[in-house]
Amino acid sequence: MALIVQKYGGTSVGSVERIEAVAARVRAVHDAGDQVVVVVSAMSGETNRLVELAHAISPEPEPREFDVLLATGEQVTIALLAMALNRLGCPARSYTGSQVHILTDDAHTKARILDIDEARVRHDLDAGHVVVVAGFQGVDEHGNITTLGRGGSDTTAVALAAALKADECQIFTDVDGVYTTDPRVEPHARRLSRITFEEMLEMASLGSKVLQIRAVEFAGKYNVPLRVLSSFEDGAGTLISYEEGDMEKPVISGIAFNRDEAQLSILGVPDKPGVAFHILGPVGAANIEIDMIIQNIGADGTTDFTFTVHRNDYDKARSILEKTAAELGAREVTGDAKIVKLSLVGVGMRSHAGIASKMFETLAREGINIRMISTSEIKISVVVDEKYLELGVRSLHSAFDLEQSETN
Ligand code: ADP
Ligand code: ASP
Ligand code: MG
Repeated sequence: MALIVQKYGGTSVGSVERIEAVAARVRAVHDAGDQVVVVVSAMSGETNRLVELAHAISPEPEPREFDVLLATGEQVTIALLAMALNRLGCPARSYTGSQVHILTDDAHTKARILDIDEARVRHDLDAGHVVVVAGFQGVDEHGNITTLGRGGSDTTAVALAAALKADECQIFTDVDGVYTTDPRVEPHARRLSRITFEEMLEMASLGSKVLQIRAVEFAGKYNVPLRVLSSFEDGAGTLISYEEGDMEKPVISGIAFNRDEAQLSILGVPDKPGVAFHILGPVGAANIEIDMIIQNIGADGTTDFTFTVHRNDYDKARSILEKTAAELGAREVTGDAKIVKLSLVGVGMRSHAGIASKMFETLAREGINIRMISTSEIKISVVVDEKYLELGVRSLHSAFDLEQSETN
């Protein structure tokens, strides 16, 4: 008898019919004799609707109240799924995050899971029930409802799988696995049968929203076998696991992109010690995360400094930067919110030279200007104008033969 945690995303539970289809899928696993814990998201569009409702009342709702509201979406689907399972003769019980003690810190809207008391879940499983748990939510030590950040149901599922030492954590979604890039942007994208935690983490961090970053981090840390599968068709999906000796090491596994970034520059800053801290300190103090940073080599005693932030933070970061520019006597502040970051990811890059130049050559051939570059052992990222997103992804996908075989 195996213990399986299954997670179904918003589209997979987007209507009564789809909830019934999920129930049938879960029942089949239960009937085969396995224990099943199901984590569900809110019905598709529901979390966005709740966000809009909150903003219709207040531009900056208190994070505590925001979380009380956002957590309601998942409470609807757990109850409906448990009803659908019971109706099929498959005994099921639903629980909110706080009922099964998904203890988190108190960072409302982006809380981290600290601990799960699995006793209640185990008790129900041993009694032959399917346990249905609300994704995306937890409770802090004072009993306040928290949420885990958008896409957080993935993390609930992985955390439950780790706590219960499940045999596998299966993420059911509207694509049949992890692809070489988002198949909505490149229709020739190819499904990967396997990908390492390291590559998946890099893909997620660089913008591939198929799995929440923290879910991949958690699965890697606790070595939870993780699989991405389609809710709508059968198939093996994509297994995310540690690199094994005999595993093929493709030079490039995939292309990630991020449309959520914006670029800011401060030009003509006096070039002296402490200037980076003076510029970035206030941005960090305002809780704004900085991604890529470039400082040019100084000339004439001044230097230019460019960095990227989340688009939602662009206005706030820009006004902080304008204040800093006045203090430092910098020449000017410029910015652009219409940029995207394209990244090539692959563990095989470690042992391969020439990937960066091939990437730059490909983009140059398409007339795509590169604004910023950043590299690590297993990725190369560039910032380009937003209008080049599709062209950039497709030309790189083809230049690196990603539609072809598992290896290249
Ligand atoms: P769910 O609601 O089930 O959590 P998401 O919308 O969060 O689903 O994630 C699935 C989506 O992720 C897909 O529809 C796809 O457009 C997108 N996606 C982005 N990058 C990839 C990729 N590399 N492979 C597969 N899907 C991807
Ligand atoms: N319902 C939440 C969201 O839309 C969590 C999730 O779907 O994973 O972000
Ligand atoms: Mg998701």
